Amino acid sequence: MTQFDKVARRLESYRNDMTNMQIALCSMPAIAPSSGGEGETKKAEYLMDFLKNNGFQGLSLVKAPDMESPSGYRPNILAYVKGADSSRTIWIMTHTDIVPPGELSMWKGNPYKAWVEEGRIYGRGTEDNHQDMVASLFAAKAFLAEGIKPAFDVGLALVADEETGSDKGIGYVLQNSNPFKKKDIIIVPDAGSEDGRLIEVAEKSILWLKFKTTGKQAHGSTPEKGINSHKAGAYLITELDKLYKVFPEEDPLFDPPRSTFEPTKKEANVPNINTIPGEDVFFTDNRILPSHPVEDVEKEIARMIKRVEQKFGVKVEVEEQQKAAAALPTSPNAEVVRLLKKAITQVYDVRGKAMGIGGGTVAAFFRRAGFPAACWSKIADTAHMPNEYCIIENMLGDAKVFAHVFLQE
Ligand SMILES: [Zn+2]
Repeated sequence: MTQFDKVARRLESYRNDMTNMQIALCSMPAIAPSSGGEGETKKAEYLMDFLKNNGFQGLSLVKAPDMESPSGYRPNILAYVKGADSSRTIWIMTHTDIVPPGELSMWKGNPYKAWVEEGRIYGRGTEDNHQDMVASLFAAKAFLAEGIKPAFDVGLALVADEETGSDKGIGYVLQNSNPFKKKDIIIVPDAGSEDGRLIEVAEKSILWLKFKTTGKQAHGSTPEKGINSHKAGAYLITELDKLYKVFPEEDPLFDPPRSTFEPTKKEANVPNINTIPGEDVFFTDNRILPSHPVEDVEKEIARMIKRVEQKFGVKVEVEEQQKAAAALPTSPNAEVVRLLKKAITQVYDVRGKAMGIGGGTVAAFFRRAGFPAACWSKIADTAHMPNEYCIIENMLGDAKVFAHVFLQE
């Protein structure tokens, strides 16, 4: 029996314990104060107890001050299992906070009283991000229980504040107690795919814009007495579509492979048909390949606006709703990708594929700090939805993938 087989067998014996921990975690809702909750303190105390009782080493609690939270801080936990070689650490980072459940009538049961049904655990947070938090905790515990040393040190980071920006979570940890070394392997199981193949290594820049076009209101029968802001706004939307031609580059790492520039939300203008609208508001969601500076896109948009203003005699104000420049991608050939691919093939019998996504994973914090992190997990994709669930087989399988990575040299 190989060492991996021993650890995998041990993990199988944890199936009920893992499910019970999921249920316990759900009963301690960790919602950010800015979303109306009390933060993660209670959940962190429970997790610290688990880590202490199971022989984890080097425990530390990094407290990010937060006066809005009843405890006065947001807890970030670091814990280790010593490996054969301590020159590097294999990290699994998960987050303890959850998003609010939303409309309760949309749920089949109480989102904080998790329940098991047909191999799934239902409840808020079960997939995002308890599934892989529990998987990483038990994967490491299995090594301690079997008395098997991982190839390198194993580090678990259980961080706060992922859902509301990470300033008091991994952002704080990186700035204040940075425990990460350049050679470390960093896995963030907070994004993934249903078949378990997607290894996320890159993301596009995000640029969300609001366009407010001001013309002059008039009666629908005498448009010449006004300036139709809606017509000018609609014209601008078709102008903005030319961004696809201005930025046609493709990067096969991404699906879709090119930058996208899409009009999305539209605010209502006049409520009646026979008025020429004097004001018009629409929004665009732009996802830009990391090879293009976001500023280049903004400059091009400014030129298009100028043309529309001159053509129609309107004023167009553009306002940033969100702007996040993509971090430098992790190489598809990085060590973390190689280790994950081997483990995924062993456990799930599929080929892992390094890819970029549309944007917005917490791994970007590591990449900006110069660490080649990868996001990976096998998920049902129910995060943030009513009746969120975790497939128990995925929780166990992901634990085996982590264990496999811990054993690779
Ligand atoms: Zn998450």
